[in-house]
Amino acid sequence: MECKDINHECTDEIVCPFCGQEFTDSWEYGDDEALGLIECDECGKSFYASREVSITYSTRKANYGTCKNCKDENVVIESYHSSIGRYSGLCVKCGRAEKQRLRKKYIDSIR
Ligand SMILES: [Zn+2]
Ligand SMILES: [Zn+2]
Repeated sequence: MECKDINHECTDEIVCPFCGQEFTDSWEYGDDEALGLIECDECGKSFYASREVSITYSTRKANYGTCKNCKDENVVIESYHSSIGRYSGLCVKCGRAEKQRLRKKYIDSIR
């Protein structure tokens, strides 16, 4: 694709092809891919806009097992790795509590 002086193709926001005005609320226009005729409030000229969306979904199976902490069986087991700490083999509920504990510990450590 050739870039002319005003970059108005495949942009994050609607960009007026006449004056280059960027619409910061592009998502408010239309509700499907064809946004129709839009009037630029900067230069007053009208142009057609379309939205190029590509939404994809992917899924992956949750792991089931026994929580290391509360010993609940056949529950979703999660692992967590981040800069504040890590855990593995905890159910969602225990994982959440552990995440809070790690976060608190981390905040205390940088104080
Ligand atoms: Zn304009
Ligand atoms: Zn648990």
